[in-house]
Amino acid sequence: MTTYNLNSFGILKKYKNFLEPKDLPLISMGEGNTPLIEAPQLASITKANVYLKLEGCNPTGSFKDRGMVVAISGAIKENKGHIICASTGNTSASASAYGARYGLQTIVIVPESNIAKGKLSQALAYGARVFAIRGNFDNALDLVKEAGEQLNVEIVNSINPLRIEGQKTAAFEIIENLGNSPDMVFIPVGNAGNITSYWKGFKEYLNFSKSTKTPNMMGFQAEGSSPIVNNKIVESPETIATAIKIGNPASWEGALNAKKESEGIIDSVSDQDIIDGYLFLARKEGVFCEPASAASVAGLIKLSKNGFNFSGKDIVCVITGNGLKDPDIPLKYSGIDIEVINPNIGELNKKMEKNEFT
Ligand SMILES: *Cc1c(COP(=O)(O)O)cnc(C)c1O
Repeated sequence: MTTYNLNSFGILKKYKNFLEPKDLPLISMGEGNTPLIEAPQLASITKANVYLKLEGCNPTGSFKDRGMVVAISGAIKENKGHIICASTGNTSASASAYGARYGLQTIVIVPESNIAKGKLSQALAYGARVFAIRGNFDNALDLVKEAGEQLNVEIVNSINPLRIEGQKTAAFEIIENLGNSPDMVFIPVGNAGNITSYWKGFKEYLNFSKSTKTPNMMGFQAEGSSPIVNNKIVESPETIATAIKIGNPASWEGALNAKKESEGIIDSVSDQDIIDGYLFLARKEGVFCEPASAASVAGLIKLSKNGFNFSGKDIVCVITGNGLKDPDIPLKYSGIDIEVINPNIGELNKKMEKNEFT
């Protein structure tokens, strides 16, 4: 008999002994086990060893799959027929995929405007029921919370503790890759579930791995959506980075706790910083991410410019989502015009920066 070596173990099987509760169905679409790659250009700017955790390599293109697979496993165990989420996009893409695969009807509540095209198209392809509400993400989440109380549905937003539980596995993988915790982790902050999860993961794995330390958690919000930085709910958050366009983070306390315990920071970056970081990643490191993901790198570049000394440190920037999620951004910000030319080698050669005829 042929033995197949399917590469779809997923985080539930791999980290079964580290996830609570312990009796969850071990479902998987191959989430987790994402690449941690070197970033030589960022290293040369900062004099640090900089690594990028490519979470856009998860099954639906963002880190949300790590928490979603655990939340869906919980919903299956509880015999729920429906799952529901409010979403700026990636949560809905992830929920719809797992919902489709495991036979749960997915209900997605999105803000009426400003959902990135790639994410919405995923939810539609996977067959979710999508409702756009007149209001922003925070209003959508309020509606979902009400539904969770009054209807027989499982909420799969990060207020579901199983989401945090699953997302902490990214910290485990980083420790396994580096042989220890890094000195610092730069991470975008929206609802703040992810920074909360990473911090939980780094602390928990201390006793079970070669890790001898925990990193400073360096969280970055977008300037127009920075309630934690300013200690004030933002009624109408604004930013090009729709995945972190959040005015009242669900895991606000978790983020403050991660900052305090890890001796880290929660700071903000402007939309211009985000676009600069986004283009730097694509053009210098060859990594195409969505704008929210670039907030981590933008934060690192900002602190470096402000004279922060990173010399010799091991730094991980979490690249939370794939660039294909938000295809309108390069069309708008690449600064490249597509020229129409004749199919003629002489004309092409003239247009090239250097004359390349040999
Ligand atoms: C959800 C998301 C974030 C923000 O994560 P939080 O847990 O809400 O702080 C950042 N980037 C991407 C791509 C996301 O999908």
